[in-house]
Amino acid sequence: MADKRDYYEVLGVSRDATPDQMKKAYRQLAKKYHPDVNKDDKDAADKFKEVAEAYEVLSDEQKRATYDRFGHDAFDPTKGGAGGFGEGMGGFSDIFDLLFGAAGGGGQRRHSGPQRGSDREVRLDIDFEEAVFGSEKDFDLQRVEKCGTCKGNGAEPGTPIKTCPQCKGSGQVRSAQSTPFGRFETVKTCSRCQGEGKIIEKPCATCKGTGKVRKKRTINVKIPAGIDTGARLRMSGEGEIGINGGPSGDLYIVIVVRPHERFHRDGYTLITETEIDFVQASLGAEIEIPLLGGMSHKLEVPAGSQPGDVITVKGKGIPHLHGQRSGDLKVYLKIKIPTKLTKRQKELLMNFYNDNDNKENKKGIIDKFKDAMG
Ligand SMILES: [Zn+2]
Ligand SMILES: [Zn+2]
Repeated sequence: MADKRDYYEVLGVSRDATPDQMKKAYRQLAKKYHPDVNKDDKDAADKFKEVAEAYEVLSDEQKRATYDRFGHDAFDPTKGGAGGFGEGMGGFSDIFDLLFGAAGGGGQRRHSGPQRGSDREVRLDIDFEEAVFGSEKDFDLQRVEKCGTCKGNGAEPGTPIKTCPQCKGSGQVRSAQSTPFGRFETVKTCSRCQGEGKIIEKPCATCKGTGKVRKKRTINVKIPAGIDTGARLRMSGEGEIGINGGPSGDLYIVIVVRPHERFHRDGYTLITETEIDFVQASLGAEIEIPLLGGMSHKLEVPAGSQPGDVITVKGKGIPHLHGQRSGDLKVYLKIKIPTKLTKRQKELLMNFYNDNDNKENKKGIIDKFKDAMG
């Protein structure tokens, strides 16, 4: 997964390649590496898979847009990226249609009644503090929409749309075959109209006859306080547009929270670390520690604190998504041991040792100290 090649590179096309250029490149490569042609060649099989995967993504406008935006991460489930493989991947039908020449490929299927547009998933990276306090963000998304010029029918306004003469508008052609076992009738998608049943005399200039255009939309999303990586926010009707007047699908925004240099979280518990010196640890102290959002907190360090001790501050953690009390703050103590001491400090420490009840091991240290002091 780590050294995945760029999909455009795999197909050997430029980033602004047209669907036709990609289809051509794909067909050549797929034939070259097809397992039937390269029996027992593991390398060719891998290549074939790589090519198929690249084409699967780049031939789909929506997946291509997602790939252009997020790269491979968008399709890597371990990165929380997701992004449109939901219905597409696994179904290699388009690829086999292409290989064996059925239907002429291109994904233009016969469709009759209204169909709901598919759901879509995008990844949104936010800062740690945005996740804790909530925020509002705008981001741009490409989506395939009905062409406004031709109202989606693909014909230049004012030009006629004719019923396909080959299939008489049914989108299918039947052919009969006589064999020793009897007569067989096969039904195929009409090659003249690609199953649409209609022929456009002059394709719409805006959408080149596809009836669809890629449009940039600005999505405004309100991020609730307390959200964490992996949360999905649903935006109703912001997915792919429906077919034949069907409703749009939904857009799911998958949240990825960037790490903070000083804070971590464990559920709703906010975790941080602070450094105190050994005198503060021994005697106890009140210290000011920074909190998120530019705030601070006076932390009571009890006398006799040890390295790694944890002080819990109730209710100063992450706000709950559903309005309950905020989580707790946990502060791990690090204790600084001075590396440079003045002569006076050394004497004071020495006195501390002399006062200490614990006489074990002490003699050696005192001798060493006396040597050091000269
Ligand atoms: Zn159009
Ligand atoms: Zn036809």
